[in-house]
Parts: sequence; C-alpha cells; structure tokens
Amino acid sequence: MKKQYLLAPGPTPVPPEVLLAMSAPMIHHRSPDFIPVIQKVRAGLKWLFQTSQEVITVAGSGTAGMEASMTNFLSPGDKVIAVNGGKFGERWLKIAKAYGVTPIEVTVPWGDSVDLSQVEKILAGDPAIKAIYVQASETSTGVWHDIQGLARLTAGREQTILVVDAITALGVVNIPMDQWGIDVLITGSQKALMLPPGLACIAVSEKAWSLSQTAKCPRFYLDLKREKDNILKDSNAWTPAVSLWIGLAKSLEMMQAEGLDKLFARHRLLARATREGVRGFGLSIFARQTPSDALTAIVAPEGFDGEAIYKNLRSQYGITGAGGQDQLKGKVFRVSHMGYADTFDIITAISGIEMVLARMGYKGAPLGSGVAKAQEVLIQG
Ligand SMILES: *Cc1c(COP(=O)(O)O)cnc(C)c1O
Repeated sequence: MKKQYLLAPGPTPVPPEVLLAMSAPMIHHRSPDFIPVIQKVRAGLKWLFQTSQEVITVAGSGTAGMEASMTNFLSPGDKVIAVNGGKFGERWLKIAKAYGVTPIEVTVPWGDSVDLSQVEKILAGDPAIKAIYVQASETSTGVWHDIQGLARLTAGREQTILVVDAITALGVVNIPMDQWGIDVLITGSQKALMLPPGLACIAVSEKAWSLSQTAKCPRFYLDLKREKDNILKDSNAWTPAVSLWIGLAKSLEMMQAEGLDKLFARHRLLARATREGVRGFGLSIFARQTPSDALTAIVAPEGFDGEAIYKNLRSQYGITGAGGQDQLKGKVFRVSHMGYADTFDIITAISGIEMVLARMGYKGAPLGSGVAKAQEVLIQG
C-alpha cells in the first residue's frame, strides 16, 4: 500500500464533508428539492466573489469560463489586450483566434509579473481596445499579476473591460470584484473551491453586461445572459451538474464558516512557509517579483531534472505535485497549497522534496533544513 497525497495545482483534494454531501441520492434540478441548493450557491458565490452581481455557474472546466468570457462580450474583429506570461496566458490567444478576435499580446517573460506601464501605453494609444484578459495567478509559473493595478487602468474607460482568470486565485487571495472594479471574474471548481473538476463560475459587472448586448461572437451553451435570467429565478438554463452544485453549497458553507480574512491568511501563511522551506533546503522559487499564494513553482537545482523530481515524489512517496509545462519542462516542479490545505500538507511537501532530492544525490543542504524553516514560519503564524 502507498498512501496518496494530492498536492497538485488542480485538481486539489476534496474535503470528506464535501464528498459525503455529493454522494446523496440524486434529486431533480427542476423540483423544489434543488431550490435551497441554488439559493445557497447564489448567496455563497456572491460572498466569495465579493460582488453584488449574480455569479453564473456552468458545467465545464475552467476553460469554459475563459471561453465564455470572450464570446459573451466581444465581436469578431474586436481588439483586446491579452497578457501572456505562461501556459494559461497563451490560452487567451488561442480562444481569440478561434473566434476571430484580434489580440494585442503583452508578452511577459515566464516568471515575471506583468509590467503595468506596458499595458497602460497600449491602452492609451488605442481607444478601440475592448478588454484586457489576464490571469490573477498564472498557474504554470506560480506568478501573481497586479490585478488591482490593471483595474485602475480600465476604471475610467466605459468601453474597456477587465477580464480576470482567477481560477487559482479566488478563495486564495483577496480580490474584491466590485471594490476594485473587475468586470469579469472567473473561477473553476477543482482549484481553491475544494471540489472535483466540472464547474466554471463567472461573475459579470454592469459594464460587461452592457457590452454583452452588442457582442456578436457565436454562443449557445455558454450564453451567460440566458443563465443570468434563469439564476435570477433560482433556475438553470440547462441541466446543471447537480452533485457538484450540492458539493459547492457545502464547500461554500465551509469557507463561510472560516471567513474571508482567515481564508486568505491561511493561504498566505502556507505559501510563505512553502517558500521559506524551499529556500531553507537551498532551492529557489521560480517567480521573480510576486509569487502566487496558491502554488509554488520550484526551480530544479543545477544538474537535476525537475521532471524526475516530480516523478520520484509520486513513485517513491505517493505525493502528486506537478511538473513544468512547455519551456519549463524539466526546469521546475510545482506544489499546490490552495483549497483544502493546511500545516501538514506543507510539511509533507517540503519533507518529500528533501527526501527525493537526497536520494538523487543532492548535497545542497542537509535533510530537514527546509522542514525546519517551514516549521518556524508555521509556528509563528
Ligand atoms: C486550471 C486553470 C485553468 C482551467 O483549466 P481547465 O483544465 O479548463 O480547468 C485556467 N486558468 C488557470 C490559471 C488555471 O490554473
């Protein structure tokens, strides 16, 4: 037997309470049985997104939310800024291409955070730009982008929306949608929401709803206006993923019991302990300016293959993290600390990394030095 530890940046572990809730007998989505679930999800998501707007939940992975965030607000030929600083930033360009939208790419070297002055300059030079597309937390590099700063850039522009993929950010870091002026905010179920994959949640500002009235990109299943009209009546346009909604009601209840401040503080502490633990073992993190609090991308030490570290964690100790993607394959490996994560997930991660690297012949620091660092951070809180 090998005990398994899921420390990947999605899917993430699902709490037993949520698993139990989801195993209840099926109920009908148009019967009165489902109404309390819808009402709990509606209220809970507004709370989590920190918005007075309705949050739309669709069946699909996070990418469904990203796709809907283009098709519902744009027309073919529209110009948008796409911040591309990693694997998920690249996805904006691919979706834009599929719908005939014209992206102006802001290329960010992997590991860096977006340079606001670059975005500001492009915006200032072109009043026709309809939107900025960006990740809050770029999961491929473990980097945080300055969302509040970007929101200031779109605040005064009636025809430009800020669209934020917060799939590994919402429920991790404070992103008050209404207060900052974010127009479209997206998350997915299998990251910080502590659920299995299969749901995307999208909140839309007044400014973005008004753009949607003239948006001509084709859409049918992911028509957010249709979903909004339904959710206002405690209903769904199509058959919702009933069990996942029941799980979502439960996970929101757990997050509400913790409270936003404590939720963010827990993630901040776990992230800091991870970084300090990694450094304590003589390794470095990949993010150069602002690391994400959701996950840490760790640079494989000189002469060691990051892919082998990731694979050995799995085969030797049952720890599933993630490797590097594309240009980072073999160069980094990643561990998550978002969602259903706590003190001993960090100890497990750092300890496992130490043991795997020691067995591979790493001599940069003695066993336990990273764990000791992480423990110091964790006990100080
Ligand atoms: C996981 C993730 C997505 C969505 O990916 P899916 O596989 O479609 O769920 C999008 N953006 C970011 C930043 C992510 O971490």
